[in-house]
Amino acid sequence: MMMLKNFQVIVIGGGHAGTEASMASARMGYSTLLLTQKKSTIGALSCNPSIGGIGKSHLVKEIDALGGMMASVADLSGIQLKILNTRKGVAVRSTRAQVDRVLYAKSIKKILNNQNNLTIIEHEVERLIIKNGIIKGVITKKDHQHFYSKSVIIATGTFLGGKIYEGTKIIQGGRKGDTSSEILAQQLKELPLNIKRLKTGTPPRLYKPSINYEKLQPQYGDFPLPFFSFIKKKIYRPQQIPCFLTYTNEKTHEIIQNNITKSAVFNGNIIGIGPRYCPSIEDKVMRFPDKNRHQIFLEPEGLNSFLVYPNGISTSFPISIQKKIIQSINGLHQAQIIQPGYAVEYDFLNPKDLKLTLESKYISGLFFAGQVNGTTGYEEAASQGLLAGINAALNVESKEPWFPRRDQAYLGVMIDDLCTHGTTEPYRIFTSRAEYRLSLRENNADIRLTHIGKKLNLINEIRWNRYIEKTKNIQFQTHVLKKTILKKTDFKMLKTKNITLSKCTSYLDLLKRPNFTYLNIEPLALFKQKKIDLEALEEVETMVKYHGYILRQQKEIQKKIYSEHFKLPNHFNYQNIKGLSNEVINKLNKTQPYSLGQASRIEGITPAAISILIIYFKKIF
Ligand code: FAD
Repeated sequence: MMMLKNFQVIVIGGGHAGTEASMASARMGYSTLLLTQKKSTIGALSCNPSIGGIGKSHLVKEIDALGGMMASVADLSGIQLKILNTRKGVAVRSTRAQVDRVLYAKSIKKILNNQNNLTIIEHEVERLIIKNGIIKGVITKKDHQHFYSKSVIIATGTFLGGKIYEGTKIIQGGRKGDTSSEILAQQLKELPLNIKRLKTGTPPRLYKPSINYEKLQPQYGDFPLPFFSFIKKKIYRPQQIPCFLTYTNEKTHEIIQNNITKSAVFNGNIIGIGPRYCPSIEDKVMRFPDKNRHQIFLEPEGLNSFLVYPNGISTSFPISIQKKIIQSINGLHQAQIIQPGYAVEYDFLNPKDLKLTLESKYISGLFFAGQVNGTTGYEEAASQGLLAGINAALNVESKEPWFPRRDQAYLGVMIDDLCTHGTTEPYRIFTSRAEYRLSLRENNADIRLTHIGKKLNLINEIRWNRYIEKTKNIQFQTHVLKKTILKKTDFKMLKTKNITLSKCTSYLDLLKRPNFTYLNIEPLALFKQKKIDLEALEEVETMVKYHGYILRQQKEIQKKIYSEHFKLPNHFNYQNIKGLSNEVINKLNKTQPYSLGQASRIEGITPAAISILIIYFKKIF
């Protein structure tokens, strides 16, 4: 018998994008259905067992500020945590966690299972129900059940038309052990959507007891343990264990060069472009023949796991060659492969087809999030999921959509990059992609976004109170530091740290010195008497030290905000505007920019064209 069900939001796929998406709309109070192929793979980390890293941690903390799961789950399951780039500026400082794969997935499932308004059903979606360019619902593969909704999010990762390559062996699949999504992929190709192919790969997993660790350099995490989540709950943190470092060598490279035609990437089987910043080992060796070694981090897959993930050698060679490659490496001469590496090729949607809300420009109510939009990485997927979840929920009652601007969040940078320029290769976030990165630090994501999360009904009271407390602490600490002049005892203490002062100065002025950090302030007289909040103090120091740069950036942002708020109409024919060249008209018609700001970032749109748009639309509105 056919089951009929109505939900306000339907999410297809329980990966990183799908879980954050369904949690967001459920948190906002909308009845949400998550349909996924297997409940058991919810929260699965398909590739590396790690969260965060440069640029990516900024996204994780933004997800956290908006009430999402990734940060707190990384804290709960982190088994080696580090702050990267500590010797560089605050803008690029990033948190990274090696996580226990099992603990991570278990924690995600637990959060989902306890969420109100969320129903999870194990079903593959086979078709979308679309009428007159508007989404109506979905049909499942098994029993052809119909589920209806005003908003549907596709978060199917690497599963659309997924093909797995291991040397010359090719099988259908979205990930090892999981079937690909074929009929849905076929339907999407029949819709007015721009679908192309990309590929990604994963390294073999090694048997831990077969590795000779005595020959390798251990890499320990930081102490005290960093947190991703701003809540910094008193949670149980798992035991911390090291990763190990080793390298490929000339023998490894010789094996690769001699067998290169056996790799699926090089024998012409794979047409999709792979991730530029995470290439396979065969790619690295062939592209950089002068390099005589490549770094490999041996990362534990978990506290109780016998598997080790060799980060840096993803491959699509047949298993026999993979074995030779592995056993040519220091510390791995006896290493056994438990699961071979492989590449996966899949369909993705050119994100130029999407509005900045991640809704399709051509099918109303249909949203896309995650790897299906041409990105790579859990963090990129999860943050898109959150945004799609928010907008899918807002769409239910035709409420005003929300998306962050480039100056508000890395999420804004990524969405604008994707939807304005599209992508031809797997897109990953970098700090260098953000023009306002000094204002978009990982540590101020809560200050930038928590109040928005509150308005959207995404966050709970605990988070809100923590945010209020932090902002108050920052104000208070700034005030105290400004008003308090150093004492003679402080002069003496500072001298022991090679800091000599010629005149009395305030604590705030002291923080302006490049060689002086908030950690030096802690033992000074003032803080012997008053309780201090180190997190707030760190923020005050950044604001003081980089005051000039941040101010300049804020002025730039203010200048541009006018064009970001200058909205352009939907489905507009730019042919109607006199003075625009044909090239400009074509580009504007195709992109249908949301704002004047977005229009100005389209390749080939000149300042002269922007002036014409301003004059035209000012007259009309
Ligand atoms: P996924 O995590 O893939 O989740 C998709 C979910 O959708 C799955 O649960 C699936 O079962 C479900 N699903 C699919 N179709 C349907 C359907 N029709 N109906 C219902 N459910 C459906 N990232 C990196 O950053 N670096 C790497 O080196 C890297 N290597 C990778 C190697 C491999 C082999 C794979 C598979 C992925 C790799 N990734 C890598 C990518 C990383 O796994 C993804 O970025 C991330 O998982 C994407 O999240 P997602 O939510 O978009 O999709």
